[in-house]
This record gives sequence, C-alpha cells and structure tokens, in this order.
Amino acid sequence: MDSMYSTDEIRDANALVLGASRSGMAAARLLKSAGASVYVSEIRPLDAVETAAIEFDRLGIEFETGGHKLNGFPVPDFAVVSPGIPTNAPIVHQLRKQGRPVVSEVEVASWFYVGTLIAITGSNGKTTVTRWIEHILRQANLNAVACGNIGYPFCDMVAEKTKVTHAVVEVSSFQLETVTSFRPHISILTNISPDHLERHGDIESYAGAKARVWMNQQKDDFAILPTGDELIASISLSIRPQVIHVSLDRLPKMGAGVEDGEIRLQLGGKVESIIRVDELSIPGRHNTANALCASAACRLLKLTPDEIRSGLASFPGVPHRLEVVKNGDRLWINDSKATNVDSLRVALEAVRGPVILIAGGRDKGASYESLRDLVKEKVEGLLLIGRSEEHTSELQSH
Ligand code: ADP
Repeated sequence: MDSMYSTDEIRDANALVLGASRSGMAAARLLKSAGASVYVSEIRPLDAVETAAIEFDRLGIEFETGGHKLNGFPVPDFAVVSPGIPTNAPIVHQLRKQGRPVVSEVEVASWFYVGTLIAITGSNGKTTVTRWIEHILRQANLNAVACGNIGYPFCDMVAEKTKVTHAVVEVSSFQLETVTSFRPHISILTNISPDHLERHGDIESYAGAKARVWMNQQKDDFAILPTGDELIASISLSIRPQVIHVSLDRLPKMGAGVEDGEIRLQLGGKVESIIRVDELSIPGRHNTANALCASAACRLLKLTPDEIRSGLASFPGVPHRLEVVKNGDRLWINDSKATNVDSLRVALEAVRGPVILIAGGRDKGASYESLRDLVKEKVEGLLLIGRSEEHTSELQSH
C-alpha cells in the first residue's frame, strides 16, 4: 500500500492531534510544516502542558486543553492519536464512528519519509536492537538514525534530518495499533511475552497489535522473527514479506543462528560466520538474540560480514540496561529498563549470583510465579519499592 495521503492532500487537510505528548507535538509540527491546518486537543489542564502551549502559539496551531471537546475545531480529515490514549477511549470511538481515520504518529512520519525503513518491535530488546543496528550502520558510514519509541519521535527525525538514508525506528504495540500504511522494508519482532496486558486485555490482542508491523510489507520486504515460539509462529504463518528466522540454538535454513559458539547467517546463499558469541560487546543470552536480529538486518542491508562484526564488537550498550554503575567490592548494576517479568528473568540469568535485587514499579498484570526457581537460586536479598510493592511481594514468598 502506498502512503495514505499525497502531499497535496495533506496540504489541504484539517488534522486533529489528540494529546500534546512529545510525539503529538512532533506530529503537529510536521503536519503544520507540510501546510495542513492542525488542531491539538489535550485532556490535561493548561498548566500541565505549558511548554507545548507556548510552542503551539508560536507555530499558529490551535489547541484546547482540559478535555477533548473539539470546540470550534473543523471536522478533521484524520486524527493522530498519542500512544498514551487507548484505542477504546471515547474520543477515538467517536471519530471512528464518524468515519475519520485515526492514525499514530509513526504512521504520519512514514508518509513523508522516503529512505530505507527498519522497524523494531517486541516485548523486550527493542531499544537495544534499534541502537545496535544504528551503531553498526553508522560505523559502516551510512547515514542511519535511530528514532521512534526511544524518545525521539519519528516525525521529529523526518522534520530535522533530511539526509537520512536509513531510519531505524523502534515501534511499540500502542503505536502499531493505529498504523494504516506504515511499511518497513525490514521489520524485526524480537519476542512476545506478557506485557501491557492491563491495556491490551489478553496476549492474543497484544500479539495482534505487534502483527500489524507486517501488515503493509510486500514480497520484497523482510520480516525477522524468532523461531520456537508458538504464538509468533501462528500469527506469522501467512505473512507477505520474506521471513528471516533467528535462533539461539541452531542455524535456521533462512536466517541467523548460533552454531559452534558463533553467530552465523544463511540468507539464501552460503553460510557466513559473523562473530564469536564471546566477542559481543554486551553480555547475556538475550543480547546474543539481539545481536542475531541486528546481524540479519544489517546483512540484508548489504553490509559485509566484517562491517557487521566490527559494529557488534564495538557497541557501547544502552544506559540502564544491565549497565555497570560501579565495580568495587560489590558489582552494582542498573537494569531499571527491565520493566516486565521476562526482562527481569533475562537480567537475573545474565549475572552471577548471589544478587541483592531492588524491584518494584507499576503492575502490568503479569505473574512473577515463573521466576520462583531463579529467585531461589540467585537472589539473596530483596528490596521492594514503588507502586507494585504488594504484587512483587510474590517474589518474597519464593
Ligand atoms: P525494550 O526497548 O523492548 O524495553 P531494551 O532493549 O530497552 O528493551 O531492554 C530492556 C530490558 O529487557 C533489558 O534490561 C533486559 O533486561 C531485557 N532484554 C533485552 N533484550 C532482551 C531480549 N532479547 N529478550 C528478553 N529480554 C531482553
């Protein structure tokens, strides 16, 4: 599918942006600069979004705060929804009932972006894979930029960096729920584990949102995904793009895998050795899985095995992901980006015990039961903090 709107249609459009979040602001700015008439509606009161309000005033963008009343706004041709607004929110429902398309900010950015698009989604490992691919491509002198869900909206990137040839875009399931024509040349699904069930309801609808990353991909595009996961296998059964498998246990017929302690690729030609696993710059089996995804993507982008090896070995890692903060009489590790049960598991697996674990945060509806043995084996002390203190106390009973 081609882009949903032509530049002429965007110039003549009334665009409604729901939510003055960072990505909402980015979409509003980009659409305004393309000539659209832009209206922003924010549910929070004015004093909570003052910076955005100043920016909208400066740009001549009309906005309302304190609710989605749409007072004095024309009927929009389409609406851009911030990832924080659920698709079952009354305003989204109302717009859809009126036949108005409701799209995400990454969808809007994709209407303007003309280079190679690599999209990364999954429950865990998105940012690491996104940054790792960006690093490898840049080391190989390509003009690659990581953006999207990593805190740099795709719309801002499109507006600011006109010479980018490779956009490496992290996309969340919330953003994918409202894509329509978003078409990555290479998509990567790192894994699916229970996460955000508080919003998606069940794992099937969560997986359904992730599957939208393939929705507009064509036969000459690629979908990189792991083997050995029944749910992923079932939702990817009849997808259009060429499937590239990733496995930690063997080398797939078409894909990337670990064999004899090495990352190897087989992408339609001969088997190629890329790097020894122990030469990777960041530790843990989960990061080997991340490196497999990055290797496959970069090879599909025609980098040489040497270029890929060098980028895999020199990647500095991403802060707050198994980041060593101090290594003295005790090793202090910051893994505060481990925000679900599965990421806590891989972190515990990646470090040597005994561990004093500081855990807490917001409950997202998944059970800690599966960590029982690992906690017993490695955790010697436990410090529970934050909103889900009660829930994480499940860990204590283990
Ligand atoms: P995301 O962007 O999807 O939240 P990150 O790359 O930021 O993922 O990593 C967050 C945490 O998830 C890491 O600190 C690590 O504990 C865990 N993690 C990273 N990669 C993987 C993976 N491939 N599989 C499972 N867990 C992972």
